[in-house]
Amino acid sequence: MTLLRSYVQDRWHTPAAAGSAIHDAVTGEEIAQVSSTGVDMAAALHHARTVGGPELRALSFHHRAGLLADLASYLRGHREELYAISARTGATLYDSKYDIDGGIRVLQAYAGMALRELPDGDEGLVYAEGPQENLSRDGSFLGGHICTPRRGTAVQINAYNFPVWAPLEKLAPALLAGVPSLVKPATQTCYLTSRLIELIVESGLLPPGSLSYVCGSAGDLLDHVTEQDLVSFTGSAATAERLRTHPVVVRQAVRFNAEADSVNCSVLGPDATPGTPEFDLYVGQLVTEMTVKAGQKCTAIRRALVPAELMDAVSEAAAARLAEVVVGNPADPTVRMGALASLGQREEVRRSVKTLLDSAHLVSGDLGRVDARGADPERGAFLTPLLLRCDDPGATAPHEVEAFGPVSTLIPYTSPDHAVFLAAQGRGSLAGSVVTGDPAFARQVVLGLAPWHGRVLALDTESAKASTGHGSPLPALIHGGPGRAGGGEEMGGIRGVLHHMQRTAVQGGPGMLASVTGRSAK
Ligand code: NAP
Repeated sequence: MTLLRSYVQDRWHTPAAAGSAIHDAVTGEEIAQVSSTGVDMAAALHHARTVGGPELRALSFHHRAGLLADLASYLRGHREELYAISARTGATLYDSKYDIDGGIRVLQAYAGMALRELPDGDEGLVYAEGPQENLSRDGSFLGGHICTPRRGTAVQINAYNFPVWAPLEKLAPALLAGVPSLVKPATQTCYLTSRLIELIVESGLLPPGSLSYVCGSAGDLLDHVTEQDLVSFTGSAATAERLRTHPVVVRQAVRFNAEADSVNCSVLGPDATPGTPEFDLYVGQLVTEMTVKAGQKCTAIRRALVPAELMDAVSEAAAARLAEVVVGNPADPTVRMGALASLGQREEVRRSVKTLLDSAHLVSGDLGRVDARGADPERGAFLTPLLLRCDDPGATAPHEVEAFGPVSTLIPYTSPDHAVFLAAQGRGSLAGSVVTGDPAFARQVVLGLAPWHGRVLALDTESAKASTGHGSPLPALIHGGPGRAGGGEEMGGIRGVLHHMQRTAVQGGPGMLASVTGRSAK
């Protein structure tokens, strides 16, 4: 029996007793047991704050950027090993690259942004933000803003669907800010994150105390957070609500960021009729979003908003493409879509789809039966892609229920304002897209979607070739969304670094401010 370990106080901790078993998503075989029993959460946080914090703050921004770049190179050299473990989560090689290479690219991108946008040398310990304001007639009294690293630990709680990308996209901005990280992966797929953390520790690149890892339940972790700590959570809205209202988090006003679930939409323009390139782009993107990572992407398209008169055409075109998707063992190169992360997850998705089916019907896929190439469909967590059609745009379930798998629902709209209205029924989303060749339609819909979204893609033939697509969060752009999506913001370039720092208004004379900020008055 393999017992996964935690890494706290710069030591590996092996649980004293067996924990909960986690299984291979493809074969059902037990992979390991997980337990955080015996981890002293208070001591882990204290060690990170008192050892990791000072170690990181002793380095300039550019030095920290160098660590990220070196870490990216090191992990790049171990990708094959990570891909092999990733396949056990049900991921195809394409999915694994999305997670693993995607995570490594975040480290590299942050290293580059820090070298370009953050100061070096003595200035590297404080970030002077924005222009200074003259607060006096004679220019002898000024005000400005500085950002300094918070003296706590960044507690990073992740969802199960991106076991590599998620910890790396949270680690990079925290480390650049000079704040140590404590990573808590979701239990279902933590065996992959465990190997990632082992690799990082083995690399010897990060300073002592700058990385901790709690594998298994978070236990009483949040009872020990303090005013200077941060909690960055990714997962379901229900867990986000529970953690955000944790008495200690509330009492100490702990900075809390949530990336939660989201019923994302993609809007097809009325100009994009069958035969136009935008029609094909729309259908292709919908199928991609449903099948990459078996639809287990927080940004995946859950609602396809289609002009009423194009519902039949989109439904037929998408169903035809989905029928070609081979589901099965990701080790088989002909397989396009692997398994969900666990049998429990498959049950959860089936339950959600049953609710959706109260106001919709299936146009592609079979909820109960699946042919899994090269695998046993009962032992592995396989599911066919499920495209639903709801002809009543006023039904509530398609706007409320997130079936976290290869599931999407076609919904008709009758005007641009109606499309915007329906998009907002998701109560706040991570990502939206508009596919059209008509810039005026795109403007109307994008501006209508924007207050309800963290990111919106306007897709046409001009950008199609280079576009990263509806579902890909990028380190330079904000990832997050209002309302149901958690109300948080991650990444977004250097903004993500500043989330880990305290912004302070500083007032004084030009000489004093120049000394404090390390830059001369402007
Ligand atoms: P989840 O059940 O909410 O769990 C998320 C994380 O919270 C896990 O690490 C979980 O640990 C931990 N957790 C649960 N209870 C906790 C507690 N009392 N104290 C501290 N930590 C606790 O979500 P999931 O099933 O892993 O992920 C699926 C959901 O995440 C979907 O709804 C999806 O939309 C959302 N998601 C959002 C984003 C985004 O960026 N917005 C990205 C990916 C996924 P255990 O696993 O050990 O319970």
